[in-house]
Amino acid sequence: MVAVGTELLLGQIVDTNSSWIGEQLALAGLDSHFQTKVGDNADRIRGALELGLSRADAVICCGGLGPTQDDITREVIAGLMGVELVQDGAIADKIRTMFRSRGRDMPQNNLRQAHVPVGARPMDQQPGTAPGLVCPVGDTDGPFGGKVIYAVPGVPYEMKEMVLGTVLPDLQARSGTNAVIASRTLRTWGQSESALAEILAGRIDLLDEVGNPTLAFLASGVEGLKVRITAKAVDQAEVDEMLATEEEILRGILGDIVFGTDDETMESVVLGLLAERGLTLGVAESVTGGYVTGRLASVPGASEVLRGGITAYDTEIKFNVLGLDRGPVVTADAAMAMAEAARRVLGADVGLGITGVAGPDEQEDQPVGTVHLGFAIDGRVDSVSTKLPGDRERIRQFSSITLLDQLRRHLLDL
Ligand code: ATP
Ligand code: MG
Repeated sequence: MVAVGTELLLGQIVDTNSSWIGEQLALAGLDSHFQTKVGDNADRIRGALELGLSRADAVICCGGLGPTQDDITREVIAGLMGVELVQDGAIADKIRTMFRSRGRDMPQNNLRQAHVPVGARPMDQQPGTAPGLVCPVGDTDGPFGGKVIYAVPGVPYEMKEMVLGTVLPDLQARSGTNAVIASRTLRTWGQSESALAEILAGRIDLLDEVGNPTLAFLASGVEGLKVRITAKAVDQAEVDEMLATEEEILRGILGDIVFGTDDETMESVVLGLLAERGLTLGVAESVTGGYVTGRLASVPGASEVLRGGITAYDTEIKFNVLGLDRGPVVTADAAMAMAEAARRVLGADVGLGITGVAGPDEQEDQPVGTVHLGFAIDGRVDSVSTKLPGDRERIRQFSSITLLDQLRRHLLDL
């Protein structure tokens, strides 16, 4: 992977293209070993491409396909291939039509984008003015024999369409495997990345020896850690079988920190568990100011389970609306009283309460990050108290998902 653009080196834009392409390559089961960033300089771009070709079978090069003077990727690739650039009439027409349809004349500069190195193939996808190019480099007996450069524009949505539509299928065809590759993601909550790596170390060593399936960790901030299984096999049925087997093994090792798979979220899982048990839910929130109810309400079909939420932020509201006894409101007892009140006031089977300290100006007697979670469920009321790290926003996000995770654990025990 070679990302072209001086602005990438200056830190003016972040190279999200390389990380996205890296993820797609991994998902497709293609090995990607190096990523390079290089400025808009012909010699250095050529150097980066040659280095890439010397250590890989193919190079994806993004950026520098635009119409301006600093967009020189096309010229550099033609030089590297040892061929001329020739104007491609079809592409020129396409660009002209694009401008005309917006009621504008095509600037002469844009014709440069219709220049294609002899022997290169323009990609079918062309959402913008820049064509993507599949560029075979060198005869089979040359230094880069049989290798290829894929040139795609830097604009992310154009790049993505071409990578999905042309680059990945072409790479898979070239790699000569007609294997089916698929992934499944296990979503976990409650362990650090290093702890998770330690728990899975034995399994990873074992899989490394075989090479298939493979495991990858993806940290997703306050949403926990993902463990992705990628398997390769001759057909879909066998891939599915491999994924299912590996999922079962991993669940056996990880236990109840796995809360879902693939597109499932903590809130969708919790709502599913409540629906299975025929239970409705009410929420009373202080420190999270509605985040918990908001997350739940974002799940389609939430209305079957979610009765509602009360944001009882000010202390007086906790007394007057929720009916808490006058006294301290950042305590485990207060969280339990809020849960019980949510159940009663909202007419729900299960009640949640959450109170805590997100900022230094809020509560002198307890450290920032203290949160108390209350649960009114199955005729009982109980609480969990914890101290969470981070700034105000992080504490509010963290405590929201923690509350939902603790509810999940309560429901699994029912
Ligand atoms: P254009 O036709 O827009 O000139 P181009 O192929 O020449 O396309 P660049 O000029 O390199 O692409 O980049 C165009 C824009 O695309 C940049 O201003 C930036 O917003 C975005 N971009 C470029 N490279 C990257 C990258 N590696 N990661 C994320 N965004 C990028
Ligand atoms: Mg450009």
